[in-house]
Amino acid sequence: MNILLLGAGGREHALAWKMAASPLADRLICAPGNAGIAHEAEIAALDPADHAAVIAFCKANRIDFVVVGPEAPLCAGIVDDLEAAGIKAFGPSKAAARLEGSKGFTKDLCRANGIPTAAYERFSDAAAAKAYVRARGAPIVVKADGLAAGKGVVVATSVAEAQAAIDMIFAGGLGEGGVVVEEFLAGEEASFFALCDGTTAIPLAAAQDHKRAFDGDHGPNTGGIGAYSPAPVMTDAMAKRTMDEIVLPTVRAMAAAGTPYKGVLFAGLMITADGPKLIEYNVRFGDPECQVLMLRLMSDLVPALLAARDGVLKSFDLRWYPEPALTVVMAAKGYPGSYAKGSAIEGLDAAAAIEGVEIFHAGTALQGGKVVANGGRVLNVCGMGRTVSEAQARAYAAVDRIEWPEGFCRRDIGWQAVKREAPA
Ligand code: AMP
Repeated sequence: MNILLLGAGGREHALAWKMAASPLADRLICAPGNAGIAHEAEIAALDPADHAAVIAFCKANRIDFVVVGPEAPLCAGIVDDLEAAGIKAFGPSKAAARLEGSKGFTKDLCRANGIPTAAYERFSDAAAAKAYVRARGAPIVVKADGLAAGKGVVVATSVAEAQAAIDMIFAGGLGEGGVVVEEFLAGEEASFFALCDGTTAIPLAAAQDHKRAFDGDHGPNTGGIGAYSPAPVMTDAMAKRTMDEIVLPTVRAMAAAGTPYKGVLFAGLMITADGPKLIEYNVRFGDPECQVLMLRLMSDLVPALLAARDGVLKSFDLRWYPEPALTVVMAAKGYPGSYAKGSAIEGLDAAAAIEGVEIFHAGTALQGGKVVANGGRVLNVCGMGRTVSEAQARAYAAVDRIEWPEGFCRRDIGWQAVKREAPA
């Protein structure tokens, strides 16, 4: 098969690495890709936002299957457009991608189908939202309805903070779809992934990520600065409850509404005293969770993605390595604020030579034959091991071999899981 992968980050490098190993992949092309992905796939200079250009490229290159990495093209309907042009594509339709694109849509679906989630109300004007916050008190959570690149959620510890967040959303141009105000959930967070084919779903694996930029989970929120899998809090029983109470009812509800969900469903969960509750859905693999999932996946990924697209997942079975994988994100200094591009990165080969280490590129480019930083999140330095502690030690041994003074990383990725492993 000729396969086109759309995207340019660490998630796509991990997907390309896994798909390149498939006997089904004759030709693997990634657009727009990065310097690391270029080791696994041909690179094409295509903009995934330009659907007509992607379709023309697929026809010219006899592409059999398109795998879409990021959410923006999915929410813009690239799968609908590809399928309408007769090209098989992996990922949800535009209508199904509303599970990520609209928090209000997802909350209403949960309410209508008894799916456990935080109690909530939706508002289209600031005054009514503020009155509700006053009546409920703090802590309370305020969210912009639409895609806000992680900037649209405020977990407020006071009524004043929640009200300021409501003003910020409406005044800052994020309030077009209104706001959702919801109950604060206490517990431990986990990311759970399932593969869906429109009528059924199979579990992938779970992971936990770190969102704050600095050690000890301090500093500003990021798109994800490290992750590990499996997630100790996701026991087999908790994973089964998540499938039965959250994922499968969602797949059934989407099918019943005439907008069947195909693709990866990423459930952001809070594991509360009452069990798993849905915080949010994403309609694609998480980044950097995908990186640790791909390292742990033993089975071929390509037939699984094809089965999801073709609606024949029912009897599918995926096998996983039980050993943990952990990834440390190396980011450009300044991230998630402003940062410089173009600094040189050395030592990557020496770092990758360490046993149990794999390095995925998240934001790199080639300049005069050298790898340079080309984004905020730049490298995913991954370690595998018999324990999370060993995976962590290997990842940091590799980090220490990378010469990149303009970059930084947290030194404590996986600390909760490592603490659990420590002898009492
Ligand atoms: P979201 O973009 O909806 O995933 O929210 C971003 C982050 O805000 C989550 O990863 C949680 O850490 C936190 N959060 C969101 N909703 C809640 C909630 N209802 N209770 C507690 N924390 C929340």
